Amino acid sequence: MRPEVFGNVVGVFATFVMWGLLLTIIELKFAAEPQSMRSRVRGLFFSLLSLTAAVVASELTQWLMRLGDLRPLFSIDLAQTIHSPNPLIVAAGYTVAPLAGILVYDVGYYGFHRLQHKVPFLWRLHSVHHSIEELNFFNSYHHLSENFLRIPLLTVPVNLLFAVSEPQVAIMAAMVGVVGQLAHANTRLRFGPFKWLFVEPAFHRVHHSIEERHWNRNFAFYFSFLDTLFGTAHHPGPDEYPKTGLDYVREPRGMWSYLCPPPPPHAEAPRAVSPAPSR
Ligand SMILES: [Zn+2]
Ligand SMILES: [Zn+2]
Repeated sequence: MRPEVFGNVVGVFATFVMWGLLLTIIELKFAAEPQSMRSRVRGLFFSLLSLTAAVVASELTQWLMRLGDLRPLFSIDLAQTIHSPNPLIVAAGYTVAPLAGILVYDVGYYGFHRLQHKVPFLWRLHSVHHSIEELNFFNSYHHLSENFLRIPLLTVPVNLLFAVSEPQVAIMAAMVGVVGQLAHANTRLRFGPFKWLFVEPAFHRVHHSIEERHWNRNFAFYFSFLDTLFGTAHHPGPDEYPKTGLDYVREPRGMWSYLCPPPPPHAEAPRAVSPAPSR
């Protein structure tokens, strides 16, 4: 493990807390539901654990890529485009190109996420994320193992397919940041017509809904049109803010319940294994 990892963990923590404070202001102003501070503090603790695992998993991925001398099939090197004298090409370099990179990742994520809802073992681990009852930015953690499961099922395959060069990585990170961080926010903030393109908080809240009619809906992380394309979209109405969580397990109260989620009772199993219910 490289010595910079510790610095990366601190950097990720600082970014997370900054986003958290900013979004808490938005959540206080446009809250979708009243929430407790206690759940938020617990969420912060589990989120920091989950983020540490994400940094370690990212290091592992890079190490595996170097070890196997694995190179991507396609490389998007747009450093030239943003130095072009043509302003249209520069604009595309800053917008279309990073969005195309995110799209490739989001298609992969969509498939991975469907698997998490289909394979019982993966669902059991993913159920930690779905058990969250007070959904907000701090309460958006995943099970500790999730980042490691993504290595063979998502990160390495996507990294093998294509790579982007600096500075597009930074632009992509900023773009992913805005939509991705908002996804779990406890807010009524809507994207207007852009909801057909991007995942707005209410759209992802439906994915976490406790109501059966919402199960297996809205899998995408960034582009909501992927769900429209694959027939799993449910765009919520203006006042549709369902309760979140699972009816067979509470959100984690301690390390044991965070690390060892119970198996779903037999009656609940279809949630993990059945195809999306029809609209
Ligand atoms: Zn899910
Ligand atoms: Zn989520």
